[in-house]
Amino acid sequence: MAGYSIGALIRHALTRHRHWPRAWRDPAPKPAYDVVIVGGGGHGLATAYYLAKNHGLTNVAVLEKGWIGGGNTGRNTTIVRSNYLLRANALFYEHSLKLWETLSQELDFNVMFSQRGVLNLAHSKAQMDAYARRGNAMRLNGIDAELLSREQVLKLVPLLDGSAQARFPIEGGLWQGRGGTARHDAVAWGFARAADARGVDIVENCEVTGFRRTGDRITGVETTRGPIAAGKVGIAVAGHSSHVAAMAGLRLPIESHLLQACVSEPLKPLLDTVVTFGAGHFYISQSDKGGLVFGGDLDGYNSYAQRGNLPMIEEVASCGVAMLPCLSRLRLVRHWAGVMDMTMDGSPIIAKTPLEGLYLDGGWCYGGFKATPGSGWVFAHTIANDAPHPLNAPFSLERFASGALLDEKGAGPTPGWH
Ligand SMILES: Cc1cc2nc3c(=O)[nH]c(=O)nc-3n(C[C@H](O)[C@H](O)[C@H](O)COP(=O)(O)OP(=O)(O)OC[C@H]3O[C@@H](n4cnc5c(N)ncnc54)[C@H](O)[C@@H]3O)c2cc1C
Repeated sequence: MAGYSIGALIRHALTRHRHWPRAWRDPAPKPAYDVVIVGGGGHGLATAYYLAKNHGLTNVAVLEKGWIGGGNTGRNTTIVRSNYLLRANALFYEHSLKLWETLSQELDFNVMFSQRGVLNLAHSKAQMDAYARRGNAMRLNGIDAELLSREQVLKLVPLLDGSAQARFPIEGGLWQGRGGTARHDAVAWGFARAADARGVDIVENCEVTGFRRTGDRITGVETTRGPIAAGKVGIAVAGHSSHVAAMAGLRLPIESHLLQACVSEPLKPLLDTVVTFGAGHFYISQSDKGGLVFGGDLDGYNSYAQRGNLPMIEEVASCGVAMLPCLSRLRLVRHWAGVMDMTMDGSPIIAKTPLEGLYLDGGWCYGGFKATPGSGWVFAHTIANDAPHPLNAPFSLERFASGALLDEKGAGPTPGWH
């Protein structure tokens, strides 16, 4: 793999950057692989990278029906954090956050990880109590957390409506300083380049249309580019999890909903952290290009369309203006949607399936971008060893039968309420 360095940059500048090698190859699919990963989003690519790097499995293909990173990886609001209450979630997301901290060096690709901090606003005494509880749990799990007073919050983000007339006056907040944002496309590209360099085939425009099986064992996939035999198959298709698993005869406890996000016209720097609203569902940060990137709740109906509706944009904008009144004069440049794989407890599934040789990484709900390196790490472990890593053992499919749910928000089996 050609290294990206200051020396290489200068050398290529001398020839007007016309001779950079391809970042990854464009191979035709082979008839058989040891492992096939379905889905070329961040999760599929990270899984392939860690299969090669941590487990020495390089006869691996990632099959992507469109272009890599064109799914939720390239559509999300890029918030990275590990401020979870439940131990299973906290330990898993903290492992992922630790991988983020050195990811650019690991991949020799700038994923623009910016630890600008994540602030959750509280608007009532009860919410402050809940945040104190969550912050204490985080600290007990070795994760940084700080409970901020109203004054500290307003000092940190002076743009917030701190007046007594605010629709939801601010009481305080929970702060995770190590949280932040990353450049979403770069994460897909960085993992793709590093996996390719270790011999993984990344095959774009190759849709998986069915599974080959002998009894209860999966032996390969059918694709739009022909059949491919595989020793093991991992599904990492996010919003399409139920659809793809159904091709293997599995019914998942997942509903597909749309989640929209918006970006404003670019502005001079005005918000240097991530802020979430505690009185509604709203989160915002400023991109390096200057646009304010924000989002809110799901569109309330099941869909696979990657475009949303205006009523939700209105609701999101009203939460935003209640929190940051200066947003009312902003122009919106774009809004778009991704398909969310909502599980019935709000936590992911990273597990073996009832079919031998078939593994599932899905059910990411609102929060799988931050999990990208961590999920790739543990999913690769699960596939290579045919057994879960201790960090993803709780994220099994069986929990929906046994009742050992990981209901982080206590919202119950209603995706729209997560
Ligand atoms: C608007 C929005 C905002 C979000 N904000 C955040 C956030 O701030 N922080 C956070 O942590 N998470 C966030 N998320 C969630 C996050 O984006 C996802 O959980 C995460 O990107 C999932 O990654 P993935 O690689 O599993 O999925 P994807 O990137 O969707 O990749 C799956 C791939 O599978 C491919 N595929 C599907 N079917 C097939 C098939 N049959 N054959 C071959 N390929 C197939 C798709 O084309 C796609 O490229 C947000 C999501 C959205 C939509």
